[in-house]
Amino acid sequence: MKTACIIGAGLGGLSTAIHLRNAGYAVTLFEANPTVGGRANQIARSGFLFDTGPSLVNYPWVFEELFASAGRKFSDYVTLLPVDPTVQFRWADGTLFTLSSDMKRLLAECERLEPGSSPATLRYLRDAGAKYDVSFQKLVTRNEDNPLRWIARLNLGEMWNSGVWRSLNGELGRFFQSRYIREALGSYGMYLGGSPYRLPGLFSILAYGELAYGLWLPKGGVYGLVQGMERLAVELGCSIHTQCPVERILIENARAVGVRLRTGVEERFDVVVSNVDVPLAEKELLGIERPVAKQPAMTPGVLTFYWGVRGVPEGMGHHTIFLPENNRQTFAQLFDERRLPDDLPFYLSIPSATDADLAPAGCSSVFALVPTPLLSDMPGADWAAITAQIRTRIFTRLKQEGVRFTEADILFEEAWTPEDWSQRFGLYDGSAFGAAHTLFQMGPFRSRNYSSQFAGLYHVGASTTPGTGMPMVVLGGRMTAERIVAHAR
Ligand SMILES: Cc1cc2nc3c(=O)[nH]c(=O)nc-3n(C[C@H](O)[C@H](O)[C@H](O)COP(=O)(O)OP(=O)(O)OC[C@H]3O[C@@H](n4cnc5c(N)ncnc54)[C@H](O)[C@@H]3O)c2cc1C
Repeated sequence: MKTACIIGAGLGGLSTAIHLRNAGYAVTLFEANPTVGGRANQIARSGFLFDTGPSLVNYPWVFEELFASAGRKFSDYVTLLPVDPTVQFRWADGTLFTLSSDMKRLLAECERLEPGSSPATLRYLRDAGAKYDVSFQKLVTRNEDNPLRWIARLNLGEMWNSGVWRSLNGELGRFFQSRYIREALGSYGMYLGGSPYRLPGLFSILAYGELAYGLWLPKGGVYGLVQGMERLAVELGCSIHTQCPVERILIENARAVGVRLRTGVEERFDVVVSNVDVPLAEKELLGIERPVAKQPAMTPGVLTFYWGVRGVPEGMGHHTIFLPENNRQTFAQLFDERRLPDDLPFYLSIPSATDADLAPAGCSSVFALVPTPLLSDMPGADWAAITAQIRTRIFTRLKQEGVRFTEADILFEEAWTPEDWSQRFGLYDGSAFGAAHTLFQMGPFRSRNYSSQFAGLYHVGASTTPGTGMPMVVLGGRMTAERIVAHAR
């Protein structure tokens, strides 16, 4: 039996493990932390349960396919609770915009902000739906190194309609005049590491994907999904070692032959898969540092707060995104000037609004996420002071908007800065979502899922193909396993 080791048990690592096991490999995972899941981890304190990172699951079909690949039924392992309305956007001028997978509600909401917009909303859904289908059938889910062959999978019509010729904001402008609708549907750019004024219009599929396939919270929080995947991997016979950091990938004759653990123990395997951000794996596990010009552009860092709260913040649903007054300026400050924006966007997630078991009776678990520049953009930053300032700014905005949730309601509190994120999970430069999805970091232009320098060395996760987000890294696990199997033939 061929042997594989996976460094890191994030969702990408777990997915690769399951697919390699399906292919008959003996699989060993080494995870530095006490628990699996990586960024999708859990804090359990004083009766409150918090997901550390992801707060919503989209594209459930990806997880259903993963479990089906092992002959199992996803719903036997994970119960998904619907989150609908999905997301509410708020602006300081009092404007609200609430998305829903219910077509009637969605059309009515768009009409409220832009009278007469129903035909355009339907056209947007048809257009983004076609882009979504083409992207997932022909581009996102298949390994391809050659840019020409990658593009040539699209016919001329599909290429023209792909929207890569326009910015995301420009693409949304084809359908919506309302600045509020465009800013809301373009705000997804933040997690892709770019401004909607620059990211390719193809990413109009993100909002569509959430509307068409819904947003979901696994029972027990997002960590319920991680536990389901861990259970499947263990049942299949994968061997998972937690609190087992890998110090080095062992190379002999330009081939990865195993790993050295921090304990000094060396273990040999036929293939090595790294679930660590690619630039960090190169630097720390191989001792190779790319020249600065060849470093990938990364998504921003995040400051996250976990608040156990007395009562239920009134008028707030599961997921609320607070957008700035001057959207263009905020994105420019974050991505071009590489500093904390003057008018900070942030979101609040209240998972206990969907699964009451995540907080004690009469209480709520509240998660806040604020994007920040990368660690290298803020050398010497005093993160304790920045955390205190940002906390004050969040509560000032909540007060201004009449949200009944104040600092006095907090019973339990924890905050993670980009430094904490980086130290806990080995995130390169404190980047929360891995390599950015700029045009030239997509498909064959993105860091590959195999090493062209060392045979037997593979990558999976947010910084390689196909990209960031839980469904993407889970799809990436299948793609990395397919590479390994193809190379072994
Ligand atoms: C705050 C936040 C919110 C998010 N929200 C969402 C959301 O709502 N929906 C969504 O789909 N996605 C969301 N994401 C993105 C999603 O969490 C990630 O894209 C995905 O979880 C990354 O998985 P990964 O496979 O790259 O592994 P990671 O999560 O990066 O895991 C890598 C693992 O490797 C381990 N490791 C590192 N170095 C070593 C070593 N030397 N030895 C052993 N182990 C090591 C780490 O401890 C970690 O467990 C969010 C991310 C963050 C940070």
